[in-house]
Amino acid sequence: MTKSTQQAPDASADYYKQLLNSIDDYAVFTTDKHGLVNTWNSGAEQLLGYSSSEIMGKDSAIFFTDADLKKSVDKKELQIAKKSGSAVDERYHVRKDRSVFWASGKTFPLMDTDGKHIGFTKVMRNMDERKLADEQLNYVRNYADAIVSNSRHPILVLRDDLTIYTANQAFDELFRLRRTDRKSLNITQVGRGFFKLPELGELLDKVRQSGHKIEDFELTHEWPSIGKKSFLINASLLPHRANNEQLILFSIEDITERKSLEQQKDDFISIASHEIRTPVTVIKAYAQILQKRAADASDQYLAGTAGKVNEKADKLMSMVTYLLDTSQLELGELLIRKSHFDIVELINESISELRLIDNHTLLAKGKKCANVLADRFRISQVLNNLLNNACKYSPPDSPVTVNVTINTNKNQVTISVTDSGIGIPKAEQPNLFKRFWRASSATSRNIAGIGLGLHVSKAVISQHRGNIWLKSEKDKGSVFYFSLPLAHGS
Ligand code: ADP
Repeated sequence: MTKSTQQAPDASADYYKQLLNSIDDYAVFTTDKHGLVNTWNSGAEQLLGYSSSEIMGKDSAIFFTDADLKKSVDKKELQIAKKSGSAVDERYHVRKDRSVFWASGKTFPLMDTDGKHIGFTKVMRNMDERKLADEQLNYVRNYADAIVSNSRHPILVLRDDLTIYTANQAFDELFRLRRTDRKSLNITQVGRGFFKLPELGELLDKVRQSGHKIEDFELTHEWPSIGKKSFLINASLLPHRANNEQLILFSIEDITERKSLEQQKDDFISIASHEIRTPVTVIKAYAQILQKRAADASDQYLAGTAGKVNEKADKLMSMVTYLLDTSQLELGELLIRKSHFDIVELINESISELRLIDNHTLLAKGKKCANVLADRFRISQVLNNLLNNACKYSPPDSPVTVNVTINTNKNQVTISVTDSGIGIPKAEQPNLFKRFWRASSATSRNIAGIGLGLHVSKAVISQHRGNIWLKSEKDKGSVFYFSLPLAHGS
C-alpha cells in the first residue's frame, strides 16, 4: 500500500481550514504524533460536541469507548495508520456528552515537507442512521423469515426460471421434500407433477408476465402423489431485488377439510329445509281452513288465533326458503323466472301486507310507476327482507320509508329503504352480504336473525344485473338501496 504523504498545517493554511470547515458532514481533525488534537473542523465540532478551543491539545483517545480503550484500540489505530499508510474502522465513538454514535473513519499519517512523521489526520462520519437502517432491515428480514417458517400453510418463493429459491417447512411436509433436496429444484419436479397442472402453469405465467396478483384461486384436483385435495392459491411478484432478479411468492392453503365440512353443512341445510317445507305447508293449509270456518261461525278469537298460526307459518316458510336458497346458491342454481311488472305496485303490495302485522309508519315515496323485466317472486323476497330488517332493527312506531327513483341515463330504477334504527358499524359493513353474517349492533341487542336474507338478496339482485348497497352509521339508522335495469320501452 502506498503511504499517504500529507503536509502538516502551517500558518498560511487558511485555505485548507476553510475547505475543511465547508465539509461539515465529516469530522476532520489532526493530531500530533502522540494523538493530541491540533486542528479541528466545524464538522468535528458538530459530531463530537467539543468546540475548537476546548479540544485543542486534548488526547484523541477521549473519543473512544471505555471498552475500546481497555483493548488499546486508539493506540493500535495510530500504529496501523503509521505502518500501512491508513487505518480504516467502523465502531462506536463517544461525544462530549458521553453519548455514543456509530462512525466510519479513516486515519492517515501526517508528514512534514521532509517526509518526517509529525502526526495524524482523522476523518470520521456519523453512520448512526445507516446502522439503524441496517439493524431495522435485519430485524424485518428475521421477522419475515420467522413468519414464513412458522406459517402452517406451505409458502414457496420461486425464481423466474421456476427453480425454488426458498420454501418453508409446511411446503416440505406437503410434498415430502428434504430441505437439502429442494435447493434449486425446478418446481415441475416437485410433488410428482403437482405443478405440471395446466391451470397452475397458466397462473404462474400470468404472475410472471404481467405482474398480475393471484388472490384465492381455488383448485381441486386428484393428484397421484397426494390424492384429491382442494387448495386456495395466492401468488404475487416480490419486489425486484438489487440484482434485478424477479421472485414469485406462492402460498398454498389446504382447504380440503373445510370444503368437505361446508359441503356437509350445505347438504344438511338442503335436506332439512326440504323436509320442513312439507309439514309447514300442511300447517298453513289447516290454519287457513280454521280461519275460514271461524269467520263463518263469527268466532273472532278463533279467527285471530288461526290468523297468528298462519302468519308464523309464513315466517317459518320464508326462513326455510332462505335456507334452501343459500344451499342452491352454493351450487350456483338459483333460478330466475322473469316477467314484466311494475315494481312500484309490488312495493305498495309489500307495504300493505306489512302494515297488517307491524306498527311502523311505513311510507312510499318517489316515482309512481317503474316497469322492470325481473323475477317478481325473487324481487318481492328482496323487498320484504329489506322492509322486515328496517322494522326489526329500528324502534317500533318509527318511520320506514321506501323511495323509488329513476335514472334515465343508466336506464335503471333504484329503490331505497330508510330506517332510523340501530345502524351498522362502518367497519363491519363490508361483511354484510356474507352468508350467516350478523352485525354486532344486532347480536349485542339479542335481536333474532340468521344472517341469510341479505346474502340471498345480493345473489338475486346480481342475477338481475343490478346492484345492492347501503349507507349506515351505528345508532343513526340505515338506508339500503338496490337498483335494477328498467324494462325496454319504460
Ligand atoms: P338477519 O336479519 O336474519 O340476521 P340479514 O341477512 O337480513 O339477516 O341481515 C344480516 C345482518 O345485517 C343482520 O343480522 C343485521 O346485523 C344487519 N342488518 C340488516 N339490515 C339492517 C338494518 N336495517 N339495520 C341494522 N342492521 C341491519
